[in-house]
Amino acid sequence: MADMETIVNLCKARGFIFQSSEIYGGIGSTWDYGPLGVELKRNVKEAWWREMIARRDDVVGLDAAIIMHPKVWETSGHVANFTDPLVDCKGCKMRYRADDIESDVCPSCGGELTEARQFNCMFQTYMGPVQDAASVTYLRPETAQGIFVNFVNVQQATRKKRHRPDRQELPKRDHPWQFHVPDA
Ligand SMILES: [Zn+2]
Repeated sequence: MADMETIVNLCKARGFIFQSSEIYGGIGSTWDYGPLGVELKRNVKEAWWREMIARRDDVVGLDAAIIMHPKVWETSGHVANFTDPLVDCKGCKMRYRADDIESDVCPSCGGELTEARQFNCMFQTYMGPVQDAASVTYLRPETAQGIFVNFVNVQQATRKKRHRPDRQELPKRDHPWQFHVPDA
């Protein structure tokens, strides 16, 4: 079986996936789709959309903005609770989840680690030209949140009824948040 490095190199050589910003040394966890990769991605997306939405009349589509009102994330508990305990290496500056590493030294260089600190896992940014507390917002950390905050809009626009989960005759694949066509 090929190792990961071989697969990554092949994907780059064939134009499927490139390390993002590679000419500046790359940026962690971020990848760009090349000419063949973007075709593959589009095909997978379109096949998924066709099967999951277009060919069903009990599911409707929604494409919500990636930035939402900060109140959404306060109310959902993400601002208070969506955190991980992280430690930094004082030597090589690598950052780890405290509960992912077993030793009390850096796994890559053996350097000393900082005390664990709670980091919020949301991407924070600012709306508008002034970077103050009033303009803080976040990139959506939870895709499904768009469904919840648009629920009434979608229900009214599509006139679908919410599936009642206590009805035994409905097949198990129906999640309570899917929209269901009324029987009558
Ligand atoms: Zn280190």
